[in-house]
Amino acid sequence: MNFATKVLHGSTCIDPFTGASSVPIYQASTFHQFDLDQPGTYDYARSGNPTRHALEEAIAALEGGARGFAFSSGMAAISSVFMLFSAGDHIVVAEDVYGGTFRFLTRVLSRMGISVTFVDATQTEAVREAITPATKGVYLETPSNPTLKVTDIAAVSAVAKEHGLLVIVDNTFLTPYYQRPLELGADVVIHSATKFIGGHSDVVAGLAVTRDAALGEQLYLIQNGMGAILGVQDCWLVMRGLKTLKARLDVSTKSAGILAEWLSTHPGVSRVYYTGLADHPGHLVQQQQASGHGAVLSFDVGSRERAKALFDRVKLPIVAVSLGAVETILSYPVMMSHAAMPAAEREARGITDGLIRLSAGLEDVDDLLADLKQVLDALPPLSSVQSQQSVQPQQKEAFSRA
Ligand SMILES: *Cc1c(COP(=O)(O)O)cnc(C)c1O
Repeated sequence: MNFATKVLHGSTCIDPFTGASSVPIYQASTFHQFDLDQPGTYDYARSGNPTRHALEEAIAALEGGARGFAFSSGMAAISSVFMLFSAGDHIVVAEDVYGGTFRFLTRVLSRMGISVTFVDATQTEAVREAITPATKGVYLETPSNPTLKVTDIAAVSAVAKEHGLLVIVDNTFLTPYYQRPLELGADVVIHSATKFIGGHSDVVAGLAVTRDAALGEQLYLIQNGMGAILGVQDCWLVMRGLKTLKARLDVSTKSAGILAEWLSTHPGVSRVYYTGLADHPGHLVQQQQASGHGAVLSFDVGSRERAKALFDRVKLPIVAVSLGAVETILSYPVMMSHAAMPAAEREARGITDGLIRLSAGLEDVDDLLADLKQVLDALPPLSSVQSQQSVQPQQKEAFSRA
């Protein structure tokens, strides 16, 4: 089955009990046992519910894994997956991981006696060099946020397998439509379904899929034991979003490509980050391991003042902490996703005061282009930008806790 068909027919798309064309919201916390000697499929809804089960089967089918799990947020999925490790274990982690993942690793997991080393995972050798006798896992996110650095999943997985390590990949940016890490050697794939999979900026959710059933059993113990499950109404919304994933991404990715090309020719933009551009350092690896470049790009307008002017004047995109929705979303990494990072460190990573992230939605791309054009053309020339004072930590803190 090709992806477009699989997204609709790859797993239970009709309710197996009634034939309903959409798996209903089974708003029930517990299930009557008709015969004590023959327990039913479901007993208590933390342990299993038909609505959640349908979503879990759907994501497992799309990622090509044995078991799927739905969690109350992307961070609930991520933190639950990290519970596969034990005190004394060491994990090699890509340095560009989502800010919430970084915070969980450095402020919570560190207290549980699990240590991490952050490396530039785009350099496979850097991963190899960070492996110690205590290392049990490698955690990746590709392309990374917001400069879209690409990690070679197959190459890193091969190194990890030499050492018997678990490979975990956050696949939020590309979704199984464009990238299937389990096929490239990963053991666990994670999503913030809040983003492209849900797709409508109306639900917070997380998903995880394991390649094999034994690891799935271990993760099920954690899901059921820690209890960070996704509620049934939200499961239903995510399933509804999933049905149009391909159709939405086809449009959004096409627009992102057009916008990236156009921005890279505009004199008011100093740099564009998009893996679809031939000059992006990760372009070739991305083309090998993924079937599309996705809907997220970043561009640098040179200074905080120019970024602020753009946010003030832009009409169509919403300005928000998120991505992967029907509406185009602009965000400001310095004050949003990377607010907690020291200025020197983020600047070294290209996360400058002029950097803006764009997640293309479903608007007509000509309207988006016209909107960005009216804003960028009205800004003072890029060449007038002097060295600007960096956004101060207290200014940043006020903005986002995501
Ligand atoms: C948003 C995001 C997360 C966290 O997901 P939540 O649903 O917000 O908890 C994790 N990873 C990536 C790449 C994200 O964009």
